[in-house]
Amino acid sequence: MDGYFWLDGGRMFADLPKLKWQTICVPDDNNRIRLAARCYLIKGRTLTLFDTGMGNPPDPKFPKFMGASYLDFFGINQNDGNLIINLEKAGFAKEDLRFVTQSHLHLDHSGWNTYTNEEKKIVPVFPNAVYLMEDWEWRAGMNPHPRQKDSYLKENFVPLETADLDNKLRYLWRVKHDIDKWGRTKNKFQLEPGLTFIRTGGHTDGHWVALIESENKKAFLAGDLIPTHKHIVPGNLMSYDSDLNKVFGEKIKFLTKACREKWLILFDHDPDFTGGYVAKNQKGHFEFHPFEGGA
Ligand SMILES: [Zn+2]
Repeated sequence: MDGYFWLDGGRMFADLPKLKWQTICVPDDNNRIRLAARCYLIKGRTLTLFDTGMGNPPDPKFPKFMGASYLDFFGINQNDGNLIINLEKAGFAKEDLRFVTQSHLHLDHSGWNTYTNEEKKIVPVFPNAVYLMEDWEWRAGMNPHPRQKDSYLKENFVPLETADLDNKLRYLWRVKHDIDKWGRTKNKFQLEPGLTFIRTGGHTDGHWVALIESENKKAFLAGDLIPTHKHIVPGNLMSYDSDLNKVFGEKIKFLTKACREKWLILFDHDPDFTGGYVAKNQKGHFEFHPFEGGA
């Protein structure tokens, strides 16, 4: 966990009028709703981190947003510890990680990629890790659409390329998907047996999700395809989604598989549930079943 933060409720439920979404999530006085910044450590042959949260608010790399500090604008609350502290509590040091990736490069998923050191240089937080970037996502982040410009903070990823000028691949691997014999771009990348990243696009061009398979069970890291259990409803989309229709279609595709194969779905932003399962009810709607309470 990298704490909690707040975003405008209307942006989290783009197609719903406030009369409707305020019954789903109760907003604060500024119309914002509370979200988690959850990250996942995957223990396979090596350690892989999926998403790096909001980052450390006092870090000078963060700009002001509409005149407010990063901390205040997003109402970041890391009273129960940030990602690094929580990794340490779980018995892991920054040096232990071999791979770091994120569903996409938006600032709420890449905050701890880098930090400003004492020489005021922005460098990788995880000194022994290779950061995996979906190549479409790298390009989307480097040259963002004007609608998404404020969601990308280049300080979170550009320094990875220049951190070791003698070896640009030391920290940064851009994953380019192969083209199959029919000329179609493959959308899966297997890092190791049982850990596959699947490009969904939709939320951002290079948004990818992760599927973990172990002992005949599957866990699905949904990133911002399904940020909270309330977004299991396919029409509950975010204005942050760059292609809402694509997100709608991808959600149905993945949720249908998740129902059939009983995937454990894990959420990045749900403040109440880390994850759970989905089933179709008699009306054919996806229904959420938490696997535990609490965050
Ligand atoms: Zn997000």
